[in-house]
Amino acid sequence: MSSATKQLTKAARIILVGAPGVGKGTQTERLLTRFPQLASISSGDILRDNVRRKTPLGLKAEAVMQSGNLVPDSMMLDLISSEFKSKGWLSNTPPSSQRTTPISPNASFILDGFPRTVAQAGSLDKIVPVNFVVHLLTPPSVILSRIGSRWVHEPSGRVYNTGFNAPKAPGKDDVTGEPLTQRQDDSIDTWKQRLQKFEETSKDLLEHYGRQGCLWRVEGDSSDEISPKLFAEIERKFC
Ligand code: AMP
Repeated sequence: MSSATKQLTKAARIILVGAPGVGKGTQTERLLTRFPQLASISSGDILRDNVRRKTPLGLKAEAVMQSGNLVPDSMMLDLISSEFKSKGWLSNTPPSSQRTTPISPNASFILDGFPRTVAQAGSLDKIVPVNFVVHLLTPPSVILSRIGSRWVHEPSGRVYNTGFNAPKAPGKDDVTGEPLTQRQDDSIDTWKQRLQKFEETSKDLLEHYGRQGCLWRVEGDSSDEISPKLFAEIERKFC
């Protein structure tokens, strides 16, 4: 796989849909390196940041996240809207009209972990014209077998796996050298519950995007297997 960066010639507004642990974070990070015009928004990272900072939203979300359930849609939408606004992609209009304000056509981005439900997708359709939905597929047995080796650099969201995507120095982030941690919500039971929840909620979500004609499936047992296929498809569509 070539490490050269690529220029997007069309705005790419990408969503990654995939079971927790499928490598959405890893793919996002690789896409950002490959396509420097892309920005990333990870709903899980934003939530964990709110939990760490003990914001009102974080305090509400913490118990839900630890139980492996989904945070309520309204809370997620507020979170994503304010993230779009902070990046200048959505103007600060009054609450009554903000959900129909079109997003800047020049914004190319990748959403990681949002939307997870049809209700969230419907709300997102009104504020952002998403044009590429990637369904990342890895068998659940493969995902469960690699959880224990998953390490995260919390400030950046960079994800490592000591099995196949190890940090250069053990326990240290490649970029900053700061310590890596295992996420508090990384217990096996929580993961089983998350995988089940994903199966329940993703079917309708994928059908929603299938109907819109922007859904694309990619399969692999590891991120390294998936990345080259994903790069090739984005280059075909947007470069
Ligand atoms: P993630 O890092 O994407 O696996 O997210 C971690 C946890 O944050 C999930 O298990 C949910 O509790 C919560 N979460 C993240 N994104 C969403 C979303 N789009 N809708 C609801 N809950 C979410």
